[in-house]
Amino acid sequence: MENTEFKELKKQLLSTKKNGYDRPLDQAAMEAYCDGYKAFLDAGKTERLCAAEVIRLAEERGYRPYTRGMALSAGDKVYLSNRGKAVLLACIGERSLAEGAQIAAAHIDSPRLDLKPNPLYEDAELAYFKTHYYGGIRKYQWVTIPLELHGVVALRDGTAVQVNIGGDSGDPRLVITDLLPHLGAEQAKKPLATAIPAETLNLLLGSRPIGGEEDSGRVKLAVMKLLNGKYGITEDDFASAELEAVPAVNACDIGLDRSMIGAYGHDDRVCAYAALRALLDLERTPARTAVCVLADKEEIGSDGVTGMQSAAFDTFMEDLCGAQGVPVRACFEKSFCLSADVTAAYDPDYADVYEKRNAAYLNYGVGLCKYTGARGKSGASDADAETVAYVRQVFDSAGVAWQIAELGKVDAGGGGTVAMYMANRNITTLDAGVPVLSMHAPFETVAKLDCWETYRGMKALYESEK
Ligand code: MN
Ligand code: MN
Repeated sequence: MENTEFKELKKQLLSTKKNGYDRPLDQAAMEAYCDGYKAFLDAGKTERLCAAEVIRLAEERGYRPYTRGMALSAGDKVYLSNRGKAVLLACIGERSLAEGAQIAAAHIDSPRLDLKPNPLYEDAELAYFKTHYYGGIRKYQWVTIPLELHGVVALRDGTAVQVNIGGDSGDPRLVITDLLPHLGAEQAKKPLATAIPAETLNLLLGSRPIGGEEDSGRVKLAVMKLLNGKYGITEDDFASAELEAVPAVNACDIGLDRSMIGAYGHDDRVCAYAALRALLDLERTPARTAVCVLADKEEIGSDGVTGMQSAAFDTFMEDLCGAQGVPVRACFEKSFCLSADVTAAYDPDYADVYEKRNAAYLNYGVGLCKYTGARGKSGASDADAETVAYVRQVFDSAGVAWQIAELGKVDAGGGGTVAMYMANRNITTLDAGVPVLSMHAPFETVAKLDCWETYRGMKALYESEK
């Protein structure tokens, strides 16, 4: 075989995945998009703050709050806030919902430290908050980093007091201490998973006493006095509060070439932003109704009233379908959902947990996952071949850089997304998202190119006529 013939045959028959920088790329548009994304991250470090930012951005683009019974016609833009913690948005399409909707579903909750219901205590004349971690964290990563606290304290009269400690410049921050190496010899022998027990994840709040030397609980009282002065709350009010400690770090560029973004909460606000921005940026009324679902509670199993398993989504879709006299089940069976969630990016420092031929790589574009799950695909929706082919066709037609991967080696672990909850509703669903380095860490890293290609992929799906 001639050398040219060999090369031609190779090109024809073998896969040639390219680094996204070796493909056509509008770098200026990518940078502008990523600037918007970084601002979105900084504005929404909790699910509530993120939902509020989503609504602000949507209203800016003409989205109106949906109310039941509202007459809807093609081109109408509506959103529904589910208890301020999840958001559903829709741009009504030219065609009937009987022909299905184009859905993108991402989640806006991220791993963090929640306060316990009786959080405040004093020990050794230091005041602390007890925490209960939310989602899959590696506990050793959360000590000795600056933290800020956000959330609400709901009072008996129904008013919700917004709490923000550390979120504004000049604010004090909170911290969880760790042992010094000089006394850490025994701790250092323990496995990572147990070296930092959950009950030591206590937020340091203060050390300055009030009252006289003969009094007790002086630092705790001093802290409560400060909280009462700022928020009007008392210790009993913590019973009906949702306060979340998150890293006190804003998003920033990573690398000398500024090709990456470091931030807290890329999982899954990087996909949530792509799904939202693509919807808001639609220039024309889509053929099929475009729906963007930004769910809460994914990190703890998608249960609960604001999670993807909640009937809130079905009710919203039933209401939209009702306006067109379409049974929701008929809409679902013709719908397509991209379950937009992050995947693990190949990390050469930890090569042994990845299977190189089936890993997602930074700068290779949006990562499709036919299935997630663990131990023989358990807990995966496992999209069918035709569904993957459909997305392949849409992405290729729009020139979107994409790759297909698994999350790590078989039996090395695994992960879940909202895909199965959509698929269980009889909605054709495929997982896809941005590859992330150090996923679930207080500071995660993604490549700008992958953020941008995910956005472009979402837009192509909303605009898809099929
Ligand atoms: Mn996720
Ligand atoms: Mn996650």
